[in-house]
Amino acid sequence: MDLELSAVQRGARDTARRFAREKLEAIGVECDRSHEFPAVAIKELGKLGFLGTFLPEKFGGAGLDQVAYALVVEELAVACASTAVIVSAHCSLASWPILGLGSDAMKARFLPKMAAGEWLGCFALTEPQAGSDAAGQKTRAVRDGDSYVINGTKNFITNGPQAGAAIVFAMTAPEQGHHGISAFAVETQSPGWSVVRVEDKMGIHGAHSAQLSFSDMRVPRENLIGAEGEGFKVAMKTLDGGRIGIAAQAVGIARASLEASLKYSQERQTFGHPLARHQAIQFKLADMAVNVDAARWLTLNAAALKDAGRPCTRESAMAKLFAAETAMKAATEAVQIHGGYGYTREFKVERYFRDAKITEIYEGTSEIQRLVISGQVLGH
Ligand SMILES: Cc1cc2nc3c(=O)[nH]c(=O)nc-3n(C[C@H](O)[C@H](O)[C@H](O)COP(=O)(O)OP(=O)(O)OC[C@H]3O[C@@H](n4cnc5c(N)ncnc54)[C@H](O)[C@@H]3O)c2cc1C
Repeated sequence: MDLELSAVQRGARDTARRFAREKLEAIGVECDRSHEFPAVAIKELGKLGFLGTFLPEKFGGAGLDQVAYALVVEELAVACASTAVIVSAHCSLASWPILGLGSDAMKARFLPKMAAGEWLGCFALTEPQAGSDAAGQKTRAVRDGDSYVINGTKNFITNGPQAGAAIVFAMTAPEQGHHGISAFAVETQSPGWSVVRVEDKMGIHGAHSAQLSFSDMRVPRENLIGAEGEGFKVAMKTLDGGRIGIAAQAVGIARASLEASLKYSQERQTFGHPLARHQAIQFKLADMAVNVDAARWLTLNAAALKDAGRPCTRESAMAKLFAAETAMKAATEAVQIHGGYGYTREFKVERYFRDAKITEIYEGTSEIQRLVISGQVLGH
């Protein structure tokens, strides 16, 4: 891995940082309070090219790499973790499987609209009985002439209510277990697609997670991603990249927690000194800084492997696990450093604390990341 960022990667990061500081910071506060989808921010990100950061220019994307993408998601997450996950689900979970595994016709149909933000994307894998055990799909896709008819329910789908495009997983051959799952690119205006409800969550209030229902939803045969029965592989490959996006989101939340703590600890006085003069507080700041840097390096390492076309299952799971735990620890310490004020809505650290928790849960819980990593290191 080249340890120096290129001028292009730095440029993407700096553009995202400027946008985050000038516009997204206020939107992050507001959408946490209102629970509203940050539509203005997403529109602006489309104009900046960040809804297609790693999509090729021929599809209207910015033509950048996964390292640049991870840097962009981190910057967005410093200001607004909701916006960061909206972008990550759209790019890594919805656009990437079409780009990496879809047919040429599918790419031409979906990607220009997704790069422009005309269609936001979502990824519909989780079901009421199939979360960590994603292979336990009950959604059914039955072949009927030139199309498939899909029936089932999906839970917690990020961007579900706003999506124009979805990656939907369904059983085409239930008797074959996970070898019977297939993946489809779906246009959400298809009859039979419905949003049942939007969850009322602890954090990332601006990102809407919905229960979806499919009732005799007809999807053309050419919308199958890969071959029938390859859906589980599609999901796992996609999640390798998705975890890079969530790791970057977690790094951003951890960095925001550190930055808020650095500021507050130099302003707040106790026992005649700023908090930052007490060694107990200095050590917390030191640990936060080490972990933020380590989490970022793990994230960029996984992104660089993906850019090189090399396997990154182990590295993206490591990055996601470590970054998520770093975000949770950093946000917890940030609240502690702010004392009673950290427990109030007056300071952003209580939001970071609520937002950090989800990074340990979605796209594979920390327990599942440990299963993936132990499987890799044991060679299973
Ligand atoms: C806000 C939000 C957004 C989401 N967005 C999406 C999305 O866009 N698309 C999508 O498809 N899904 C999405 N999800 C679903 C998410 O990926 C799942 O919630 C997650 O994978 C865990 O599944 P579960 O909730 O069913 O928990 P369960 O699988 O029931 O797990 C419960 C607990 O048991 C542990 N556990 C389970 N099995 C094992 C095991 N074998 N060994 C050790 N521990 C185990 C888990 O780690 C967890 O702590 C989202 C969820 C949330 C909350």
